[in-house]
Amino acid sequence: MAHPFMVAPGQRVSLAKYDPDFHGEYASKDDLAVVEKLQADLRAVTELQEKLYAEGKQALLIILQGMDAAGKDGTIKHVMAALNPLSCHVVGFKQPTSEELAHDFLWRIHQHAPAKGHIAVFNRSHYEDVIVVRVKGLVSEKLWRGRYEHINAFEKLLADNGTRVVKFFLHISRDEQRRRLQERLADPTKQWKFNPEDLRERERWDEYMAAYEDALSLCSTPWAPWYVVPANHKWYRNLVVADILAQTLRDMNPQYPPPRPDLGRVQIK
Ligand code: ATP
Ligand code: MG
Repeated sequence: MAHPFMVAPGQRVSLAKYDPDFHGEYASKDDLAVVEKLQADLRAVTELQEKLYAEGKQALLIILQGMDAAGKDGTIKHVMAALNPLSCHVVGFKQPTSEELAHDFLWRIHQHAPAKGHIAVFNRSHYEDVIVVRVKGLVSEKLWRGRYEHINAFEKLLADNGTRVVKFFLHISRDEQRRRLQERLADPTKQWKFNPEDLRERERWDEYMAAYEDALSLCSTPWAPWYVVPANHKWYRNLVVADILAQTLRDMNPQYPPPRPDLGRVQIK
């Protein structure tokens, strides 16, 4: 059965219909069931990653998108910590350099796609090229409108070569963003994350939501689905992401290479 937070291919997403405060059947982060479920899913992710690496035939690309302070870094810290760094890498995509801007928008992305047996986590991604670029009008409308098709074709190319793509939109409310940005200002250990630019982006909240709605609606495909994750509660966000990752890896069903009977008889001297 499709996951309840998955955007069905072809579905038109209206973010107003997704409650960022949602936390399912769980009361709070202290609920024992929350702790147990998170631990079980993270254990499954660790085991399946090991098999994926041993098998060496498939790869997994995890994409994290969201507004400032939506919790991309926190998700990496709490969920991706279950991944063995041996076969996993995390890449953050910032404002493109002049060299990157001199190429097509996927040029800087493709080189970080995971190799067979590996997992890559993208903190922001090629979706910035239809989100921030669109909202700020950094390229012509004709150019960014063409990119949804380019993205779907690019992700199909990855899928056809054995890479599963899962995309998470961490959905917070405007009010929750205010609380989190305010917290950054008050806490000396978090202030470094604050960028006065973020306030200008916050002013354009509705335009960002409209851009996200198009990306979610036009680019959720059978080979690279989008998930809208209720993210006002950090603990629920972690639970959902871990659950979807465990489910995705189970579905990929990586296998250890079959044991060779001749090797079982070898005596090491
Ligand atoms: P946080 O959410 O914690 O603030 P962050 O991901 O915003 O972290 P920053 O270093 O603050 O990290 O910002 C990176 C910036 O780069 C973002 O504002 C993002 O919109 C911008 N960016 C990423 N890709 C592109 C792109 N292709 N074109 C223009 N800007 C981009
Ligand atoms: Mg930022």
